[in-house]
Order: sequence, then structure tokens, then C-alpha cells
Amino acid sequence: MDGIVIEDSPIVDRFSAAWARELSPTPIKLVKAEHLIECPRKIVTRVLYPQKIKVERRDAVRYAMDCSLRCRWMSYLEHNFSFQVIARDLRVEDGDLWLQTIIEAKLKVDSKTVVVIFRHVSTNDMYRAKNMGPKKRDVVTVAASAHMSEVHDGIIVYGHGEDCCFYHIGLTDNLLNPIRQKCRVLSKYLLTSQLPPKCSSGCSFCNSLPTAAS
Ligand SMILES: [Zn+2]
Repeated sequence: MDGIVIEDSPIVDRFSAAWARELSPTPIKLVKAEHLIECPRKIVTRVLYPQKIKVERRDAVRYAMDCSLRCRWMSYLEHNFSFQVIARDLRVEDGDLWLQTIIEAKLKVDSKTVVVIFRHVSTNDMYRAKNMGPKKRDVVTVAASAHMSEVHDGIIVYGHGEDCCFYHIGLTDNLLNPIRQKCRVLSKYLLTSQLPPKCSSGCSFCNSLPTAAS
């Protein structure tokens, strides 16, 4: 169609190149922040042998629900002048710690920059979150995300239906040092492409995969 389809468009070339980069596997394999509280053997298996990690249906459903909560919040935040959205779905990493994550949202609120994670929870988990505080996995994820974003504050948003609750996590050395320490241990195994020893007991991953990737 004359005048509508532009042949040999350099802009289309840019889109093609960007998509090819998106599809190509990342050359450096790093630990994802959201997996940091798992046992070392499982974390290293995830990085070195991802095909050996079974994706549970409930995890896939939970991820979809988290995305839905995040979309709902982001469309609100982007039109609310109390919040300035700096970035969303931003890939960040710390090569020294062999750590990476995707920042779900980075906002400026009252001149303070924060990173935010959104987690859809069940009714029981919402009750637990309100009465017993945030889950360790979420605290570690938001702390590692804040560290990699070079900010000192993170927010966890828990949502269930119309009900939401919020936690502000301040990044301190007490929170960051155990993360650094665990990353240092993991990096020794990742550098040599070896798996850490199995946990002695109480680990469903190590107990259920006696010969995994060994
Ligand atoms: Zn284990």
C-alpha cells in the first residue's frame, strides 16, 4: 500500500534487533534475588541446570496473580501525582555478588526513592502478613532489589481482592550482610560449576532429588 508501508525502515530494524537480543540467552548466569532464601544446592542448580527445576503449577498461578496485582497498582501509580514512577520491569544486577533481579517498580515518593514488590496472597497469608509481618523471602527480595538499585528503601505490597497491606523495609547492614555472605558462598560454586553439598536434613529439594545434576 503506497505511502503506508515504509520499505527498509531503520526503525523496524531497531525493533528486530531489540527482539533478537531479548530472545537470546543472557551470557552471564546469575542468581535471582527472589531465590536467595532457598537452599544453596537448589539455588546453584537453578543457575547451572535450570531444566532440572520443575515449575510447579501453583508457582505459575501465583506469578500470574502477582503480575495482575502489579498491573493494577502501576496503572494507578502512573496517574497519581503523589508518586513518580521512575522505572518498571528494570533488569539490574550486581556482578560481584552474582546476583540479578527485575525491579518491578522504582518510584519517587516525597523525594525518597523506593523499590516496590507486589505479592498476591491468600486470605490466610494476608492474615499472617498483617499479624506477623512480611515473609522472609519477600524481605530478602526487596532488600536485594534495593541494594542493586542503589536505594535504601523498599516497599512490599501484599494484596488479596480489595484488601492490601504494606511494609516499608529499610536497607541496613544487618539485612544486607547475610545476603552478601550467602552470595559469596554461592559464587564459589558457580565459578567452578559445582553443586554445593546436599543439606543434611529437612530439605525437600535435596531429599527428593538424590541424583540431581550430580
Ligand atoms: Zn537443600
